[in-house]
Amino acid sequence: MSALMHDTGNFEGAARALVEVGRQACAQGWVPATSGNFSARLDEETLAITVSGRHKGYLSIDDIMRVDDSGRSLDGKKPSDETLLHTGLYCRNDNIGAVLHTHSVASTVLSRVAKGELILDGLEVLKAFEGVDSHETKLTIPVFPNNQDISGLAKVVEAWMDSHPPIAGYLIAGHGLYTWGKDIPSTVRHLEAFEFLFQCEIEMRRITVQ
Ligand SMILES: [Zn+2]
Repeated sequence: MSALMHDTGNFEGAARALVEVGRQACAQGWVPATSGNFSARLDEETLAITVSGRHKGYLSIDDIMRVDDSGRSLDGKKPSDETLLHTGLYCRNDNIGAVLHTHSVASTVLSRVAKGELILDGLEVLKAFEGVDSHETKLTIPVFPNNQDISGLAKVVEAWMDSHPPIAGYLIAGHGLYTWGKDIPSTVRHLEAFEFLFQCEIEMRRITVQ
């Protein structure tokens, strides 16, 4: 079994997989200075999520905790400040099995220059997303204004989702990326695809400007 796979409901397995995600994301420079947070669904009402303030590149199983579907701690530890952005996604879609949030240079830079939305098209890697079978697909990624009031930000995200087709991720301006999928491996695939596409977009814009 891949280091990123875990059996549904198995906290230890989910925690081990999230530790591995952190190690890989850190190696890519996507979670600097304790930023980012990760979660996986355990059952209908419980998530495994990273503890607040831990460096994601050096996590141990102890740095992963349980919260209920409202984001309340189930084991006395303090979850990430952005837990409500995770629980909101799981509550609205039963098919979501994992959510990853990262702060890469590419996602942060693009989230500041793209106004309101970022459109990605014409690239083969778009096929990494669930349900996409051609590079001719146009992927629209919303960019929400950053907000330290996480429940306010969650409401803005939910309202957007209520009035648009399903997406696999969104950006928060000057902040980073949220992406999700049916399990941890497919969410890591989405994360890698987004990061690749963001870097391509930055390179293309750089060439076009000159
Ligand atoms: Zn963040």
